[in-house]
Amino acid sequence: MDPAANTPSTKNQSATCRGRFAPSPSGPLHFGSLVAALGSFLSIRAQGGEWLLRIDDIDPPRNVPGAADGILRTLENYQLFWDGPVFYQSQRFEAYAAALTQLASHSYPCGCTRREISAVSPNHRYPGTCRNGLPPGRQARSLRVYCGGQTLCFTDALQGRQCRQLDDDIGDFIVRRADGFYAYHLATALDDAFQQVTEVVRGADLLDATFPQLYLQQLLELPRPTYLHLPIAVTTAGKKLSKQARARAINDSPPGTVLSRALTFLGQPPPEELRGAAPGELLDWAIAHWQPACLPCSKTITTDADETGA
Ligand code: GLU
Repeated sequence: MDPAANTPSTKNQSATCRGRFAPSPSGPLHFGSLVAALGSFLSIRAQGGEWLLRIDDIDPPRNVPGAADGILRTLENYQLFWDGPVFYQSQRFEAYAAALTQLASHSYPCGCTRREISAVSPNHRYPGTCRNGLPPGRQARSLRVYCGGQTLCFTDALQGRQCRQLDDDIGDFIVRRADGFYAYHLATALDDAFQQVTEVVRGADLLDATFPQLYLQQLLELPRPTYLHLPIAVTTAGKKLSKQARARAINDSPPGTVLSRALTFLGQPPPEELRGAAPGELLDWAIAHWQPACLPCSKTITTDADETGA
């Protein structure tokens, strides 16, 4: 492992803006994740900022051996080169543990199983069973953060103003899971701050995830980046492309062709003469011609069978 890993990038300290791509190594990159990588890359490069790569490998049961390296090779193949060393969340467990100590007065042990929660709460929002202490005979499993009646808002650079009432819309959320691993929201809020990320560009499937992250930023006094949630690619059946759903990896098609499609998906179609050109040439064009106003602001876009591998 690179000894310099997991220290904030020192290259170009004068850059004021910093974006990131944070894939989970649960499978090879598919078209949907390429769109997220490309959107965050172009947005930050068009502003002259740094683009960081973070591997969100905090979920060992879902980590697929070799997937992280495969993602790195695929990004290189598309000439989506990142700044500084690759950051691995699996090296940050001490920081996550320290944050849990800081959150002690805002969190409580919960003994509920997922099945028990969905039996009483069809939308999976936590019903508050263990909020005032574990019911008799129950063992602590996870650790949850209390969500009060506060309304949190942010202005998404693409989807517009977003507000949620923490209690009613989000519910007390997990920061340490029943299997002892740290939860995605905790690691993301901490690492976006640690990496000095100023702009989060990711798929609209994570729009609601922004609220627990904003709340943790507030509790832990972390800076708040700006957010832009891109439409996600869905199959004609309306299903999200996801690594777990075994969406076809993009490696089988020429990178210039896939990249041209991804640019078109983002409302930035390359001129006819550049369609299918080498990735470096396409990216140079796309950085120079990046038009955030042309991004489609729907939350989903249906992609054809060729891209989904259907
Ligand atoms: N690791 C998450 C994923 O692959 C994305 C995290 C984020 O962008 O906040 O879905």
